[in-house]
Amino acid sequence: MKQDKAVVVFSGGQDSTTCLLWALTQYQEVYTVTFDYGQRHIEEITCAEEIAKELNVPFKVLDMKLINQLAANALTRSDIAVTEGTSEELPSTFVPGRNHLFLSFAAVYAQSIGARHIITGVCETDFSGYPDCRDVFVKALNVSINLAMDSSLEFQTPLMWLNKAETWKMADDLDALDFVRTRTLTCYEGIRGDGCGKCPSCVLRQNGLTTYLEEKQGSGAK
Ligand SMILES: [Zn+2]
Repeated sequence: MKQDKAVVVFSGGQDSTTCLLWALTQYQEVYTVTFDYGQRHIEEITCAEEIAKELNVPFKVLDMKLINQLAANALTRSDIAVTEGTSEELPSTFVPGRNHLFLSFAAVYAQSIGARHIITGVCETDFSGYPDCRDVFVKALNVSINLAMDSSLEFQTPLMWLNKAETWKMADDLDALDFVRTRTLTCYEGIRGDGCGKCPSCVLRQNGLTTYLEEKQGSGAK
């Protein structure tokens, strides 16, 4: 039986779209919340809105541009280049605590509409240097949030331990591989679908897809 109400933290990318499709199979009512933090590509929000409309789920944008008062980084400032992180340095796309802030706002929104579950596509497997995407952080925040609001909200992280190939498999198992592949926007250059093919995000996505499709072919499934 489906559980009642859930909010999906939604960006229109591969991961959160897969989470949204998964949530639609698990919950009776599904809502989305998207954060406008002055993304370099406003296309991201348009893309998220179109996917939500196509899947017939309510779409809410929260204005989070205030985080730009706190940090300058490559996703919101066009004069800073996108660089990959190293073991010593976080990637240039990092806004300290961004996910922490987003999840906290999503929780307040969920509480306000009577949704118990908050779904986020954060993932520790392809750990990209974002400490607030780790499982231990999400669990700790869940406790803090419930203490803060006297609530019994539950964060769900269906992708936490999946690699990119497994996330593609999840989309395929939901009969939505082509949907996720063509509709979503993950590329730092703002190109939907398979993207520019060159930025770190496209490379990660493409490698995962290639691995998954090879595995699928090898196993003779479908
Ligand atoms: Zn790209």
